[in-house]
Amino acid sequence: MLFEPSLATDVLVCKTSQGLSGSKTRLQLGQGAGYPSVILLEMVTHLLWSFASASHVWESICVPEERTLLVVCWTLPWQPPVTMGIPVFILAGLLVHFVFLVSIFDIYFSSPLVHGMTPQQTPLPPPAKRLVLFVADGLRADSLYELDSNNTSHAPYLRGILENSGSWGISHTRVPTESRPGHVALIAGFYEDVSAVAKGWKENPVEFDSVFNESKYTWSWGSPDILPMFAKGASGDHVYTFCYTAESEDFGAQDASKLDTWVFDHVKSFFNSSRSNQTLFSALNEEKVVLFLHLLGIDTNGHAHRPNSREYKENIRKVDEGVKEIASMLESFYGNDGKTAFILTSDHGMTDWGSHGAGHPSETLTPLIVWGAGVNYPQKVTSQFFEDNFLKEWKLENLKRLDVNQADIAPLMASLIGVPFPLNSVGTLPLEYLNNSAHFKAESMFTNAVQVLEQFKVKMNQKKATTLSFLFTPFKPLSDSEQISFLKKTRLYIQQQKYDEAVSLCKTLINLALEGLSYYHTYDRLFLGLSIAMGFVGWTTYVILVIVKTHTNLTKTVQSSNKESTVLLYSFTFVGMMITFFLLIQTCPWTYYIYCLLPVPVWYAVMRELHVIQNLAANLWSLPISQSLGFILISIVGIEILVFSFFYRSTLTVGLLVFAGWPVITQLWVQAKTTTSIWTVLCALLAVFPLMPVVGREPNIPLVIAAGLLTLLISGFSLASSCKSENKYRNNEDMKVHFYQMLSIALSTYVVSNTHNSLKNKQGLPVFNQVISWTTLVSSSVLPLLSPTFLFPRLFSILLSLMATYLLLSTGYEALFPLVLSGLMFVWIHMEQEALQHYGLSLKPKLAVFNFAYATDITQFRQLHLDDIRRSFFFVFFIVTAFFGTGNIASVNSFDPASVYCFLTVFSPFMMGGLLVLKVVIPFVLVSCAFEAVQVTTQLSSKSLFLIVLVISDIMALHFFFLVKDYGSWLEIGTSISHYVLVMSLTIFMMLMNGLAQLLTTKRLELSRRTKHHAT
Ligand SMILES: [Zn+2]
Ligand SMILES: [Zn+2]
Repeated sequence: MLFEPSLATDVLVCKTSQGLSGSKTRLQLGQGAGYPSVILLEMVTHLLWSFASASHVWESICVPEERTLLVVCWTLPWQPPVTMGIPVFILAGLLVHFVFLVSIFDIYFSSPLVHGMTPQQTPLPPPAKRLVLFVADGLRADSLYELDSNNTSHAPYLRGILENSGSWGISHTRVPTESRPGHVALIAGFYEDVSAVAKGWKENPVEFDSVFNESKYTWSWGSPDILPMFAKGASGDHVYTFCYTAESEDFGAQDASKLDTWVFDHVKSFFNSSRSNQTLFSALNEEKVVLFLHLLGIDTNGHAHRPNSREYKENIRKVDEGVKEIASMLESFYGNDGKTAFILTSDHGMTDWGSHGAGHPSETLTPLIVWGAGVNYPQKVTSQFFEDNFLKEWKLENLKRLDVNQADIAPLMASLIGVPFPLNSVGTLPLEYLNNSAHFKAESMFTNAVQVLEQFKVKMNQKKATTLSFLFTPFKPLSDSEQISFLKKTRLYIQQQKYDEAVSLCKTLINLALEGLSYYHTYDRLFLGLSIAMGFVGWTTYVILVIVKTHTNLTKTVQSSNKESTVLLYSFTFVGMMITFFLLIQTCPWTYYIYCLLPVPVWYAVMRELHVIQNLAANLWSLPISQSLGFILISIVGIEILVFSFFYRSTLTVGLLVFAGWPVITQLWVQAKTTTSIWTVLCALLAVFPLMPVVGREPNIPLVIAAGLLTLLISGFSLASSCKSENKYRNNEDMKVHFYQMLSIALSTYVVSNTHNSLKNKQGLPVFNQVISWTTLVSSSVLPLLSPTFLFPRLFSILLSLMATYLLLSTGYEALFPLVLSGLMFVWIHMEQEALQHYGLSLKPKLAVFNFAYATDITQFRQLHLDDIRRSFFFVFFIVTAFFGTGNIASVNSFDPASVYCFLTVFSPFMMGGLLVLKVVIPFVLVSCAFEAVQVTTQLSSKSLFLIVLVISDIMALHFFFLVKDYGSWLEIGTSISHYVLVMSLTIFMMLMNGLAQLLTTKRLELSRRTKHHAT
């Protein structure tokens, strides 16, 4: 035990030399408490005390040798401010949200791997001595199988094989449909978790076993992104890789199918060279040899030209020829010994618009053709049923189609060459592909079942060891006795030569073991989910309390007694310690401590404000019921519209149309006819964007050019009007900045049109264009800071700078989006002024002379009004519009590599990802800056409105937390996860953006000595 039966404490009164008095508590820990647990307890108590009452200072001293924790509570003679400071609040907020965000990766996407199993191998001799695995990266099933208009195949050799000598089917992949998880499923037989993808492509986050590792020798040729991960995971020196350099993966200028020709040529010369190298020659003639040819050309061509292009199809033809040559070369090398098995498949497919990663059928359906030693010949059938209509389309109705899950290919390969099944494989051997005796099939299936069961046993023992015995609920259908009886029965069937019975029993056992694996894998899910939800609700409540307390006059300040707060603190500390203790004895991973302990300080902070809650409740009861009900109803509808817009972009159109009618509903239009009509028109214009198809599917460069010219026109007008009116707030320096920004818009427009032209003509990206692009990108972050800090000039300058970058990243109608959006934002700032007047809250300040730099000088901020909730809701709505206005960014499919062609054409996922994120962020920055302007011009402290925004987005996040799914189709699961990630990062992002917007609007860089500022 960690603690003595009774928590030994004694309270002493002490005094310091400065006259502070306090009480000291000694916590005596039990014999079992080691040094780490004492330190941990100290950290927990420290964490709690950082939230603790302001009139006390807490101090804890840990004495590990005596296993005691001394806790001193000093009573301060003075009363510091009651709420925590803004920096602390923001830090706490960021921390809390970061934990919430990361938690779902732990809850839903923890690594499924276990270690410590015994390798399992079929005892009978295998049919093949060697296996050749071709992976045509990014090859869609239908692209390979379909016939063109005159009934010929793009891959005549492979078509011939599936018609005359091999077996075929569709291999179903899982999300994420990316190269790395695809190859891991193929070669190691398990589905890698998403977190592993996030950890990097080339590094192995975990060691895993693979068919290559189990083979005697593996030689592999292909991309440096894929091959090293299997060589690195392999034990000993028997997996050899031959890669080209990352630089040659340039898909803009040269023909990408050269990547495949490279592989074929190198394999041929490798075999040629072995004739004069005796060691290599004998190694090649060993048993259990794997040759792996990774062909990246099709994927690269698909990204660059889309799967319906001539280039993609031409590349398929090249691969087909290459496979034919390699096959015949190998047959002659091995003297037609009939001991070679061949597998051709792909790691994932590709959408019509050249992307992959999500769960669309075009991405998850990949071809599988197997032939050679030990593989079944084509089976003629009269009818076969599949839900899709492909068979007819491909004219393959009469050849048996054998579908598999991607991970089933690993046991298939292992069984063909007779190596142990990869230890973590969850695949089931697809028996119908095998041309072998019933005995062999039954034995192989038995091996498969034992191998999966091994994982189940290790996982169960792990969970059992780390769970308190009275809390452990075993997986009932597969208890120890059940397992033994299953295995015994199967052995018996095999001995009695009842092979079919043995196989079906093995299949049941495999399914049960897999079910049990996922049962133990998700064992803690409910418990962790509850903890996170508790923390969520607690944090949101706390933010609401802070708003009510500091920004409204709804509550009177009541000083809670010291005694009460001490009791509260002790009880929460006690709860925190109990949780820590509970987790300690279960030896939970360290992240669990964070998830489970986080709600404690959060709820402590809430409970300290209990009097605010009581006050608020009393206040609310005094309101008329219809009014409060109506308010709640409108809030719910508003938030639901936002949630819905994540699923259906057109919901945003509905919302924007309601916004367009807002001045009419509230009678605002009587007051300001011009402003309100512009508002209505712009709302309606913006409402068109969510109805447009997702960005990138239909590139339209002329529209981008039009957007550039329109921006030039508008800025020209603005320049002319400010010259004409002899605006005293402008001087020559400002003119220069403005002029330079116009120049960069013009340059961007030129670069976009020129680059896309040159790429079309296959001339690659001109260096001059690339230099201009990067210069524009860098300068756009600095230029706005040079412009005057008056409201509209500054906002306009931010728009011009960001627009120049956005143009470079655009490929179609989306280039117009920031223009319309910022138009609406400009009017919004005016509209909020009108609304203030409408409610009689303020006199109209002159917007034209409003200066961001002096905004913080306003000493008298007004209190929050109910209308400010509407204001905050508008902001969140505009943010969501900025996100989904031009595409569904929750889906990887929206990321079209064509939009970064002005910057780079060499495939570099992280650089491209960064640029695409920038493209998403630009509309976001525009809205954030407008919101900053709304805050300061409506005389609110910049934090109060933002707090309401936090509450709105947190309620949304909680909504999506409950919508996170781990069942249903992979598309649904993927989407639900990305929604949650998106809305959580939205909150974190908005916090950062708020800071960035403040910086962008208020800071000014002085390049030279200037004339003094004109004060308002
Ligand atoms: Zn791939
Ligand atoms: Zn790809």
